[in-house]
Amino acid sequence: MSKSKSSESVKVVVRCRPMNEKEQASKFERVVSVDVKLGQIVVRNPREASASEAPKVFTFDSVYDWNSKQIDLYDETFRPLVDSVLLGFNGTIFAYGQTGTGKTYTMEGVRHDPERRGVIPNSFEHIFTHISRSQNQQYLVRASYLEIYQEEIKDLLSKNQSHRLELRERPDTGVYVKDLSSFVTKSVREIEHVMNVGNQNRSVGATNMNEHSSRSHAIFVITVECSELGVDGENHIRVGKLNLVDLAGSERQTKTGAQGERLKEATKINLSLSALGNVISALVDGRSSHIPYRDSKLTRLLQDSLGGNACTVMVANIGPASYNMEETLTTLRYSNRAKNIKNKPRINEDPKDALLREFQEEIAKLKVQLQKRSGGKKKRKQRRRTGEGSDGEDLEGETEDDDEDGEDKGDYWREQQEKLERERNAIMEDHSLVAEEKVRLLNKKEKKMEDLRREREAGEMLAAKVKAMESKLLVGGKNIVDHTNEQQKMLQQRRHEIAEQKHREREMQQQMESRDEETLGLKETYTSLQQEVDIKTKKLKKLFAKLQAVKAEIQDIQEAHIRERQDLEQTQNELTRDLKLKHLIIENFIPLEEKNKIVSRAYIDEEDEHWKMKPITRVEDEHRMMNKPLSAVGYRRPLCHHARMAMMMKPDTRYKAVNIQILDMDLPTRTTIDYQEPAIAPTVAAALRDALRDEDEIQVDALGFYSSLGPTPPASTVSSLKKPKSGRPRTGKKSSTPTSPFSPSSPGSPLYPQCRGLVPK
Ligand code: ADP
Ligand code: MG
Repeated sequence: MSKSKSSESVKVVVRCRPMNEKEQASKFERVVSVDVKLGQIVVRNPREASASEAPKVFTFDSVYDWNSKQIDLYDETFRPLVDSVLLGFNGTIFAYGQTGTGKTYTMEGVRHDPERRGVIPNSFEHIFTHISRSQNQQYLVRASYLEIYQEEIKDLLSKNQSHRLELRERPDTGVYVKDLSSFVTKSVREIEHVMNVGNQNRSVGATNMNEHSSRSHAIFVITVECSELGVDGENHIRVGKLNLVDLAGSERQTKTGAQGERLKEATKINLSLSALGNVISALVDGRSSHIPYRDSKLTRLLQDSLGGNACTVMVANIGPASYNMEETLTTLRYSNRAKNIKNKPRINEDPKDALLREFQEEIAKLKVQLQKRSGGKKKRKQRRRTGEGSDGEDLEGETEDDDEDGEDKGDYWREQQEKLERERNAIMEDHSLVAEEKVRLLNKKEKKMEDLRREREAGEMLAAKVKAMESKLLVGGKNIVDHTNEQQKMLQQRRHEIAEQKHREREMQQQMESRDEETLGLKETYTSLQQEVDIKTKKLKKLFAKLQAVKAEIQDIQEAHIRERQDLEQTQNELTRDLKLKHLIIENFIPLEEKNKIVSRAYIDEEDEHWKMKPITRVEDEHRMMNKPLSAVGYRRPLCHHARMAMMMKPDTRYKAVNIQILDMDLPTRTTIDYQEPAIAPTVAAALRDALRDEDEIQVDALGFYSSLGPTPPASTVSSLKKPKSGRPRTGKKSSTPTSPFSPSSPGSPLYPQCRGLVPK
């Protein structure tokens, strides 16, 4: 087995989904035709005006039409890739295309229907079946699941779903996600459970799952580590990583009228996808020395899969209906470019971060500890057997095999227990001992028994730990002789052969086509001039049609470029406008001195492309920071003695240091109290009453007033008007009777207190 494959192109396959019910009902025309044998997709323009336009033809490694089965795709396209992951290569499967064209269907499919299961569940089955059939190999399989949404990485398996993860890079292993959780899985069921948990977290976080999934990238990562005894007698570990990527919908996101936050969101949504396009272009171009991997999280994370050391398959999903034509063509062009990317896959052997190695070492360490315990026991036992104090150590006793050890273990503990029990009983029955001595001895024995129990528990725990760790390491070969298993294996082999055969046929046919064209002119000898003219005219026509197709293609691409450029310009304009506003605020509202301070402290963090602030440091010669006055040591600002005392006595906000970062409204405590009527001494009250009596006795004759207003008020009202309590409202004292001369039931307009000068005498 070679450690690295020679350079290998990214394999691109195209899958066209069937017309859905809505499209059928609306009688949309099918514009895509698929030639599975030739590996060609032909797109025809349905518009009348372009009837003369030649259909557009794209050739790929394999193409799948609407009748394609999930299992066919798996056997022909994905199985070889997963096989190389099992050999220790890195592998990536992308699903690319417009929303609703079957990316998720291809990757996940319909979970509970074995016929319609996608690549991810099929790869689970494949991996664990491979392991169960392996011999003399030890495997460790783990899974992670993450999502990139608006350039933020979310761990779909983490308990804390609000946490965002960061990318880090190490020179030896490359780019990785810091703190990404991964779960060791021992079976298909377990890994399926991991996927379900992740999917649940994905949909719970989204208000509209369709919208969310069309804007986010989901990556399921399976790491398979395999340990095998090499020819050099050493254990070697190979690590293969399989990235299963369900990309965001590739349709252009409209961002008309977007501003502020929404603009930011719109520019971020497809950032990863357009960066992916740029990376592909740069890789294929061959002229650019700089590949813009760092432009987005997705491209950084999948750097290995694009021009790196991984095997990559890209599935381009398209829709067949006429209204999807533009997007279909864009997808096909995009994928056409991607097939020219060259990777250099190589096996990851004995990487430093292999978890399997850590597991093996830990198990070995625990086993040694366990051995020491049982060794110690045996020595003691041996001593007992050969007589107390004997020096004869039985080395063989320490290397006895586990089974015997297991059997012995129980006996040993029982023996010890019984012995202690016997000794205790002996002490109890021994009448020659003084009571105190007896108690002391008994206590000693109790303690010994307790120690024994604890030792036993510790031993058991250790054994359980070893067992648990060992159970995570998978070894195959258990049912290798199983008949059905053999048959299945044969069947798979056959399917694989058929797939290979199909692939070869397709390649040959594609080659024949191109050779036909080349040799057309060479082999022909002409019998007459007329024949020569005819044949050459035919050839010319063919070449002319080809030229036209290429010209049309160039024009399409140019148009696409112009659209893209306009889009970028629009984004740029909006961002510039945004920037201008920020400038305006900074220039007018932030003191220059403060601005300069901030500018000198700010730096860009290359890792995550964010501006950050350096901590404040004192520059010796430049006194940028003032020394704190002595009176402020330990405080944020200078405080007077009174303030310090007040702070100590009671928590008064008045003496708290100002923290401008807390911007919540601080409601002040109330400093006023309700008005309380002063208590008046009875003598003073009497004097006041007397003093006011004269005024009280003023007769108010409101009759004249009423005659001017309308009808005369009823007699009762007039009599009550005769003696109003007071013409002046009394401050601070609610009068028990209404001050209004009218009774409260009177619906007439209220009579307001009047100026005394106007009251008729
Ligand atoms: P995407 O993930 O690209 O947005 P989906 O995978 O959700 O699209 O597919 C949209 C719909 O089309 C789903 O209902 C799916 O079942 C259906 N579909 C997609 N591809 C196929 C196919 N090859 N065969 C049958 N149904 C398909
Ligand atoms: Mg989807």
